Amino acid sequence: MSIEEVLEKLSTSVNGLSDVEAEKRLKEYGPNIIESKRKSPIVIFLRQFWNPLIIILVIASLISIILGELLDSILIIIVILIMGVMGFIQEYKAEKALEALRKLASPTAKVFRNGVLKVIDASRLVPGDIILVEEGDRVPADARLISSDNLEVDESPLTGESTPVSKDHSVVLPADTTIADRANMIYMGTTVLKGRGRGVVVATGPRTVIGGITRAVGEAKEAPTPLEEELEDLGFKLSVIILAIAAIVVATTFLLEKTSIITAALIGISLAVAAVPESLPAIATALLAIGARRMAERNAIVRKLAAVEALGSVDVICTDKTGTVTRGEMMVKYLWTPRGLYEFTGEGFKPEGAVKPVSDTSSIEEARFVGELAIAHTSHSIDLKSVLELATRKSPTELAVYIMGLKIVGVENIEKIKSGYRLVGENPFDRTRKMRSTIHEVSGRLISIVTGAPEVVLKRSTRLLVWPREEELTSGLAEKVMRVVEEYASQGFRTLALAYKYMENPGEDPEQGLVLVGILAIIDPPRESVRRAVEEARRMGVKTVIVTGDHKLTAMAVARMIGLEVSEENVLEGWQLDKMSDEELERVVDKIIVFARVTPEHKVRIVRALKKKGHRVAMTGDGVNDAPALKEADIGIAMGVRGTDVAKEASQLVLADDNYATIVEAIKMGRWIYENLKKPINYLLSCNLGEVATVFGAELAGLPYILEPVHILWVNLVTDSFPALALGLEHPEPDLFTRPPRPRGARLVTKRNLLYLALTGLLIAGFTIGFYAYSLDKGLEYARTVAFTTIVLSEFGRALASRSEKLPFWKLPANKLLYFALAGSTILQLVLLYTPLNKLFHTTPLEPHISIIIGLAPTLALLALDELARRLGTSN
Ligand code: ADP
Ligand code: MG
Repeated sequence: MSIEEVLEKLSTSVNGLSDVEAEKRLKEYGPNIIESKRKSPIVIFLRQFWNPLIIILVIASLISIILGELLDSILIIIVILIMGVMGFIQEYKAEKALEALRKLASPTAKVFRNGVLKVIDASRLVPGDIILVEEGDRVPADARLISSDNLEVDESPLTGESTPVSKDHSVVLPADTTIADRANMIYMGTTVLKGRGRGVVVATGPRTVIGGITRAVGEAKEAPTPLEEELEDLGFKLSVIILAIAAIVVATTFLLEKTSIITAALIGISLAVAAVPESLPAIATALLAIGARRMAERNAIVRKLAAVEALGSVDVICTDKTGTVTRGEMMVKYLWTPRGLYEFTGEGFKPEGAVKPVSDTSSIEEARFVGELAIAHTSHSIDLKSVLELATRKSPTELAVYIMGLKIVGVENIEKIKSGYRLVGENPFDRTRKMRSTIHEVSGRLISIVTGAPEVVLKRSTRLLVWPREEELTSGLAEKVMRVVEEYASQGFRTLALAYKYMENPGEDPEQGLVLVGILAIIDPPRESVRRAVEEARRMGVKTVIVTGDHKLTAMAVARMIGLEVSEENVLEGWQLDKMSDEELERVVDKIIVFARVTPEHKVRIVRALKKKGHRVAMTGDGVNDAPALKEADIGIAMGVRGTDVAKEASQLVLADDNYATIVEAIKMGRWIYENLKKPINYLLSCNLGEVATVFGAELAGLPYILEPVHILWVNLVTDSFPALALGLEHPEPDLFTRPPRPRGARLVTKRNLLYLALTGLLIAGFTIGFYAYSLDKGLEYARTVAFTTIVLSEFGRALASRSEKLPFWKLPANKLLYFALAGSTILQLVLLYTPLNKLFHTTPLEPHISIIIGLAPTLALLALDELARRLGTSN
């Protein structure tokens, strides 16, 4: 359809809808989101029982009900239900945490409402809205273009084709044009690589093309993280062993003890259910999700769960300088021209301040001319009222130039200058060109105004403004200018050259044959928190590398300000990189601390070289061009404030505050969560091995079966749930942030570690079987009660010993959650022994002194073993 037709059909206009109308349509069409198939709580709950072992166990219990063992079987089923509830709580919590994370990353849209441009939550878009999309944006809904300017879009999410697609609002296409060829349409989920465009929204949410695809194929499941894979692998191997043992237990119980086959089966299956560590990946996921939520509270938003564990192993951070290491609140401090020197007062982006001539040869007229150029060059995109909002969204460099102009010409003259220099064209700043130009019409003539990196602008200049005349730019003069630039740069100033030229004809290159006006020296002080964060990173064995488009000397000065020791040999510039082969780069990359004057394309090579050298690399980025490097890095980090949607989509971590210090915080959290996973795993494995060894050992010793099925399930219930999670949230180990990152390929559970855990399992079994055998002459029920209680209470020893690898538990800060969990299971055990419930569980009250002995002995022994292992350094 033609644009007019579309607008009419949707009862809208190029000015957009009114807020009232939009509100009405929102009710009618629903929010602009693609419902991801959220797992309903019921499904999560039911899934807890979707386990062959559990199903067999339930069937066996049902059979035993038929055979008359009514109470026992019902109890088994109740315990299974409680286990299901526990598993559900854990998984539901993880799911909630993930959902909260997804909400944080929700996109925004630029929309015209009542003719005014606003930024709103993309979910509130409705058909008929007029949207604006620009370079770096994610297209928020399906829209028919009504204007376009050099618009290029990446439609790979829809078509799988990654070459940029050019768009054109002016064409009208036949109705059967395929999606890939619809040049006058833009689609939700695609991203704008270049240019800008306006469009009228024609479909939102599930009615968009991507919405249709999502519905058809269902939500893609997040791939398992390496960690989950490791745990699944470990779980599988252990399961095989445990199932084999369980089978032997069934056989011996049935054949040697002459029990009914159903009793034997129930014992064996209960043992399998209890000991197979199928909950390991779930616990890991829950802890990663909890970690991710805590990171989000500290401004580090994880987009993929896998990032939490990957963060923990990072050993090189490649960071942007401007805005990440520095505050990004730039102010032009000096203006240098061939004739004069001017100083500016004020602070950051605050418009208050004035210009002061410093040298005698400075002239107010010259300053005024520079002020006019500066305002003309920047004011079309900046409106003083919204300076602060734009400060965070638009280019801070442009804003600094604007404010400098403002200080010179005064706010009352802005409008006059703006209309005097009518804007007719713009070449936006580009990290690769390192320049920006605007073209204006001034009293019938065309003038181009250029700002950019000094050496780039200098190369394109042929003359120099020596107020009030233009002179030829000789190589001597060019050298003099470069010396000025270097002087400023070495003091940490960002430098920017300003130039202009009158254009003879509209077709000529506006960025060639320029007249250089002067150099702007911009201050952008480092953030206060960065110096400390760099030091923290260093102590953790994480190297900080600055990768910047800025001048080498500026970058070195800033690096020194934040405590990085740099000399010439630690710096590599973009042009040197261009001359190097990948192998040469790999050879030197380890000693480089500052990469200066690099383009986004260089970043990919830097990441590759570092990875080749075995490093785990985190790389920051914000622009469209940064996406490949962000994807290549082990951890891509996008800026939440300055970053484009494209950069965010390519990243695993988004910094809500753009701050380098937040990266270090996130690495610390990642390390903490990952290393802490060892604790619940150690604990669970040794408890499970203890259960298996106890039941199996008693059989081997020719004793009557030691635990009833419901006892085994109960032991599993009280150990598996809360204590395990509580251990995962233990305080960080004392040396966690001062030791080097874990090496590549490090495993959570090592062979030696498993051996040690097996030993603890044997110890638990030894005590339990020993006490059992000793008490047998007081009757089977009494002896089983002793065994049951011993194994439940031995969990104390294992839980306390698992708290830390480095320190005995009493030297650690209290873990209240763990203590509550342990107290809880003790009280439950007392209830099972001393209340009428004991009928159900086939237990008898024990004499208090016996309870105390069987409660303390294994725990003390386990703690002693743990201390011994720690002394010998073999617990890991
Ligand atoms: P950084 O790594 O410090 O963020 P950039 O890649 O943003 O550096 O910029 C590199 C150089 O390009 C700057 O030193 C400056 O001279 C110039 N520059 C940056 N932004 C702009 C802009 N918006 N317009 C013109 N020139 C710019
Ligand atoms: Mg930058």
